[in-house]
Amino acid sequence: MLEDFNFNRYSVIDEKNKREIVMLRGSGCKWRRCRFCDYHFDFSTSKSDNYDLNKKQLEKVTGIYQKLEVINSGSFVDLDEETMHLIEKTCVDHSIKEVHFECHWIHREEIADLRKSFEKYKINVKVKIGVETFDNLFRECYLDKGIDTDSASEIAGYFDEVCLLQGIPGQTVMSMKKDIETGLEYFERVCINIMQENKKQIKPDPAVIADFVREIYPIYSEDTRVDILLENTAFGVGGVTGHAE
Ligand code: SF4
Repeated sequence: MLEDFNFNRYSVIDEKNKREIVMLRGSGCKWRRCRFCDYHFDFSTSKSDNYDLNKKQLEKVTGIYQKLEVINSGSFVDLDEETMHLIEKTCVDHSIKEVHFECHWIHREEIADLRKSFEKYKINVKVKIGVETFDNLFRECYLDKGIDTDSASEIAGYFDEVCLLQGIPGQTVMSMKKDIETGLEYFERVCINIMQENKKQIKPDPAVIADFVREIYPIYSEDTRVDILLENTAFGVGGVTGHAE
Protein backbone atom coordinates (compact mmCIF):
# COMPACT_ATOMS: atom_id res chain seq x y z
CA MET A 1 0.00 0.00 0.00
CA LEU A 2 0.99 3.65 -0.32
CA GLU A 3 1.15 5.85 2.69
CA ASP A 4 -1.51 8.50 2.51
CA PHE A 5 0.29 11.39 0.85
CA ASN A 6 -2.65 13.61 1.65
CA PHE A 7 -4.06 13.22 -1.83
CA ASN A 8 -6.80 15.61 -2.44
CA ARG A 9 -9.67 13.22 -1.89
CA TYR A 10 -12.67 15.50 -2.30
CA SER A 11 -13.59 17.80 -5.15
CA VAL A 12 -16.55 19.48 -6.84
CA ILE A 13 -16.86 19.16 -10.60
CA ASP A 14 -18.66 22.21 -11.99
CA GLU A 15 -18.67 21.24 -15.66
CA LYS A 16 -20.66 18.81 -17.78
CA ASN A 17 -21.95 16.15 -15.38
CA LYS A 18 -21.88 18.38 -12.28
CA ARG A 19 -21.16 16.43 -9.14
CA GLU A 20 -19.10 16.01 -6.03
CA ILE A 21 -16.40 13.38 -6.08
CA VAL A 22 -14.68 11.57 -3.22
CA MET A 23 -11.68 9.32 -3.52
CA LEU A 24 -12.09 6.81 -0.71
CA ARG A 25 -9.88 3.92 0.33
CA GLY A 26 -10.73 0.24 0.52
CA SER A 27 -9.02 -3.09 0.99
CA GLY A 28 -7.56 -2.91 -2.52
CA CYS A 29 -8.39 -3.98 -6.03
CA LYS A 30 -8.79 -7.75 -6.27
CA TRP A 31 -7.56 -7.89 -9.86
CA ARG A 32 -4.37 -5.81 -9.62
CA ARG A 33 -2.99 -7.15 -12.90
CA CYS A 34 -3.56 -4.31 -15.33
CA ARG A 35 -0.15 -3.59 -16.79
CA PHE A 36 -0.61 0.18 -16.82
CA CYS A 37 -2.00 0.63 -13.31
CA ASP A 38 -0.46 1.84 -10.10
CA TYR A 39 -3.75 3.10 -8.61
CA HIS A 40 -4.30 -0.10 -6.72
CA PHE A 41 -1.48 0.75 -4.32
CA ASP A 42 -3.91 3.11 -2.61
CA PHE A 43 -5.37 0.63 -0.15
CA SER A 44 -5.16 -0.50 3.45
CA THR A 45 -5.97 -3.81 5.07
CA SER A 46 -7.13 -1.94 8.17
CA LYS A 47 -10.89 -1.44 7.99
CA SER A 48 -10.83 1.06 10.82
CA ASP A 49 -8.09 3.19 9.20
CA ASN A 50 -10.01 3.15 5.96
CA TYR A 51 -13.25 4.06 7.67
CA ASP A 52 -11.62 6.98 9.53
CA LEU A 53 -10.14 8.31 6.31
CA ASN A 54 -13.37 7.81 4.37
CA LYS A 55 -15.48 9.45 7.08
CA LYS A 56 -13.35 12.60 6.90
CA GLN A 57 -13.93 12.84 3.16
CA LEU A 58 -17.63 12.07 3.29
CA GLU A 59 -18.08 14.80 5.89
CA LYS A 60 -17.07 17.30 3.18
CA VAL A 61 -19.99 16.35 0.94
CA THR A 62 -22.67 19.05 0.77
CA GLY A 63 -25.05 17.67 -1.87
CA ILE A 64 -24.60 20.84 -3.94
CA TYR A 65 -25.48 19.06 -7.20
CA GLN A 66 -27.40 16.13 -5.68
CA LYS A 67 -24.89 13.82 -7.37
CA LEU A 68 -21.94 12.07 -5.77
CA GLU A 69 -19.22 10.04 -7.42
CA VAL A 70 -17.31 7.59 -5.23
CA ILE A 71 -13.99 6.23 -6.46
CA ASN A 72 -11.64 4.01 -4.49
CA SER A 73 -8.89 2.71 -6.79
CA GLY A 74 -10.63 -0.61 -7.21
CA SER A 75 -14.27 -1.61 -6.93
CA PHE A 76 -17.06 -0.63 -4.55
CA VAL A 77 -16.89 -4.15 -3.10
CA ASP A 78 -13.48 -3.27 -1.63
CA LEU A 79 -15.06 -0.66 0.66
CA ASP A 80 -15.84 -1.76 4.21
CA GLU A 81 -19.43 -2.13 5.32
CA GLU A 82 -19.34 0.86 7.65
CA THR A 83 -18.11 3.09 4.85
CA MET A 84 -20.91 1.82 2.59
CA HIS A 85 -23.46 2.66 5.29
CA LEU A 86 -21.94 6.09 5.68
CA ILE A 87 -22.18 6.69 1.93
CA GLU A 88 -25.88 5.79 2.10
CA LYS A 89 -26.41 8.09 5.07
CA THR A 90 -24.48 10.91 3.43
CA CYS A 91 -26.66 10.61 0.33
CA VAL A 92 -29.85 10.61 2.35
CA ASP A 93 -28.77 13.49 4.61
CA HIS A 94 -27.80 15.68 1.65
CA SER A 95 -30.68 14.74 -0.66
CA ILE A 96 -28.35 13.17 -3.18
CA LYS A 97 -30.36 11.54 -5.96
CA GLU A 98 -27.60 9.83 -7.92
CA VAL A 99 -24.48 8.07 -6.70
CA HIS A 100 -21.72 6.72 -8.95
CA PHE A 101 -19.38 3.84 -8.12
CA GLU A 102 -16.62 2.03 -9.97
CA CYS A 103 -16.33 -1.70 -10.39
CA HIS A 104 -14.20 -4.32 -12.13
CA TRP A 105 -15.85 -6.89 -14.38
CA ILE A 106 -15.16 -9.72 -11.90
CA HIS A 107 -17.62 -8.17 -9.43
CA ARG A 108 -20.42 -7.57 -11.94
CA GLU A 109 -22.84 -9.95 -10.24
CA GLU A 110 -22.72 -7.81 -7.08
CA ILE A 111 -24.01 -4.70 -8.82
CA ALA A 112 -27.70 -5.64 -8.67
CA ASP A 113 -27.60 -5.76 -4.87
CA LEU A 114 -25.80 -2.42 -4.76
CA ARG A 115 -28.55 -0.87 -6.85
CA LYS A 116 -31.20 -2.41 -4.59
CA SER A 117 -29.58 -1.11 -1.41
CA PHE A 118 -29.91 2.48 -2.67
CA GLU A 119 -33.28 1.97 -4.34
CA LYS A 120 -35.03 1.94 -0.99
CA TYR A 121 -33.97 5.61 -0.60
CA LYS A 122 -34.95 6.40 -4.21
CA ILE A 123 -31.29 6.97 -5.05
CA ASN A 124 -30.17 6.03 -8.51
CA VAL A 125 -26.90 4.08 -8.75
CA LYS A 126 -24.58 4.42 -11.73
CA VAL A 127 -21.67 2.02 -12.09
CA LYS A 128 -18.57 2.69 -14.15
CA ILE A 129 -16.19 0.11 -15.56
CA GLY A 130 -12.71 0.62 -16.96
CA VAL A 131 -12.82 -1.23 -20.28
CA GLU A 132 -9.91 0.84 -21.66
CA THR A 133 -10.53 -0.41 -25.21
CA PHE A 134 -13.11 -2.61 -26.92
CA ASP A 135 -10.34 -4.29 -28.91
CA ASN A 136 -10.38 -7.56 -27.01
CA LEU A 137 -6.97 -8.83 -28.10
CA PHE A 138 -5.23 -5.53 -27.33
CA ARG A 139 -7.04 -5.23 -24.02
CA GLU A 140 -6.42 -8.73 -22.70
CA CYS A 141 -3.03 -9.67 -24.21
CA TYR A 142 -1.40 -6.28 -23.79
CA LEU A 143 -3.19 -4.51 -20.93
CA ASP A 144 -4.23 -7.68 -19.01
CA LYS A 145 -7.51 -6.06 -18.04
CA GLY A 146 -9.43 -9.17 -17.05
CA ILE A 147 -12.66 -8.77 -19.01
CA ASP A 148 -13.56 -12.09 -20.59
CA THR A 149 -16.06 -10.92 -23.14
CA ASP A 150 -15.67 -9.04 -26.39
CA SER A 151 -19.30 -7.91 -26.33
CA ALA A 152 -19.85 -4.25 -25.49
CA SER A 153 -23.55 -4.94 -25.14
CA GLU A 154 -22.91 -7.68 -22.56
CA ILE A 155 -20.76 -5.27 -20.53
CA ALA A 156 -23.42 -2.58 -20.84
CA GLY A 157 -25.95 -5.05 -19.42
CA TYR A 158 -24.28 -4.51 -16.05
CA PHE A 159 -22.56 -1.12 -16.26
CA ASP A 160 -23.81 2.40 -17.03
CA GLU A 161 -20.58 4.23 -17.78
CA VAL A 162 -17.25 3.29 -19.30
CA CYS A 163 -13.65 4.45 -18.95
CA LEU A 164 -11.22 4.27 -21.84
CA LEU A 165 -7.44 4.51 -21.70
CA GLN A 166 -5.86 6.35 -24.61
CA GLY A 167 -2.42 7.64 -25.54
CA ILE A 168 -0.64 4.29 -25.38
CA PRO A 169 1.62 2.62 -27.97
CA GLY A 170 -0.28 0.80 -30.67
CA GLN A 171 -3.32 3.08 -30.69
CA THR A 172 -4.22 5.20 -33.70
CA VAL A 173 -6.65 8.03 -34.35
CA MET A 174 -8.97 5.49 -35.94
CA SER A 175 -8.80 2.99 -33.07
CA MET A 176 -9.29 5.66 -30.40
CA LYS A 177 -12.26 7.17 -32.21
CA LYS A 178 -13.81 3.74 -32.73
CA ASP A 179 -13.55 3.00 -29.00
CA ILE A 180 -15.17 6.32 -28.10
CA GLU A 181 -18.00 5.76 -30.57
CA THR A 182 -18.59 2.24 -29.23
CA GLY A 183 -18.63 3.67 -25.71
CA LEU A 184 -21.19 6.29 -26.69
CA GLU A 185 -23.35 3.72 -28.45
CA TYR A 186 -23.64 1.35 -25.50
CA PHE A 187 -23.08 3.46 -22.39
CA GLU A 188 -24.58 6.61 -20.91
CA ARG A 189 -21.22 8.28 -20.44
CA VAL A 190 -17.62 7.82 -21.54
CA CYS A 191 -14.59 8.91 -19.56
CA ILE A 192 -11.32 9.06 -21.49
CA ASN A 193 -8.14 8.85 -19.42
CA ILE A 194 -4.97 9.87 -21.19
CA MET A 195 -2.12 7.60 -20.10
CA GLN A 196 0.24 9.11 -17.56
CA GLU A 197 3.72 7.80 -16.93
CA ASN A 198 4.09 5.65 -13.83
CA LYS A 199 6.34 2.79 -12.77
CA LYS A 200 4.37 0.07 -14.59
CA GLN A 201 5.37 -1.57 -17.87
CA ILE A 202 3.08 0.34 -20.19
CA LYS A 203 4.17 3.88 -20.94
CA PRO A 204 2.39 6.75 -22.65
CA ASP A 205 3.20 7.32 -26.31
CA PRO A 206 3.75 11.06 -26.91
CA ALA A 207 2.97 10.70 -30.63
CA VAL A 208 -0.37 9.00 -29.88
CA ILE A 209 -1.20 11.65 -27.29
CA ALA A 210 -0.38 14.38 -29.83
CA ASP A 211 -2.72 12.65 -32.30
CA PHE A 212 -5.42 12.54 -29.65
CA VAL A 213 -5.07 16.23 -28.82
CA ARG A 214 -5.05 17.25 -32.47
CA GLU A 215 -7.70 14.93 -33.95
CA ILE A 216 -9.91 13.55 -31.19
CA TYR A 217 -10.07 16.17 -28.47
CA PRO A 218 -11.78 18.84 -30.63
CA ILE A 219 -14.54 16.37 -31.61
CA TYR A 220 -15.54 15.43 -28.06
CA SER A 221 -14.38 18.28 -25.83
CA GLU A 222 -17.87 19.85 -25.76
CA ASP A 223 -19.79 16.56 -25.69
CA THR A 224 -21.71 16.50 -22.43
CA ARG A 225 -21.53 12.68 -22.33
CA VAL A 226 -17.76 12.61 -22.56
CA ASP A 227 -15.23 13.42 -19.86
CA ILE A 228 -11.63 13.79 -20.99
CA LEU A 229 -8.88 13.60 -18.39
CA LEU A 230 -5.72 14.84 -20.05
CA GLU A 231 -4.14 14.53 -16.60
CA ASN A 232 -5.24 12.01 -14.02
CA THR A 233 -5.84 14.74 -11.44
CA ALA A 234 -8.20 16.63 -13.75
CA PHE A 235 -11.24 15.82 -11.57
CA GLY A 236 -9.46 17.51 -8.66
CA VAL A 237 -8.81 14.28 -6.76
CA GLY A 238 -5.75 12.06 -6.68
CA GLY A 239 -2.07 12.81 -6.59
CA VAL A 240 0.44 10.12 -7.23
CA THR A 241 -2.45 8.07 -8.44
CA GLY A 242 -5.75 9.01 -9.97
CA HIS A 243 -8.35 6.65 -11.19
CA ALA A 244 -11.71 5.75 -12.46
CA GLU A 245 -11.78 2.10 -11.95
S1 SF4 B 1 -6.94 -0.50 -13.44
FE1 SF4 B 1 -8.50 -0.92 -11.89
S2 SF4 B 1 -8.89 -3.13 -12.16
FE2 SF4 B 1 -6.91 -2.74 -13.12
S3 SF4 B 1 -5.42 -3.17 -11.51
FE3 SF4 B 1 -5.86 -0.97 -11.49
S4 SF4 B 1 -7.43 -0.73 -9.92
FE4 SF4 B 1 -7.38 -2.90 -10.50
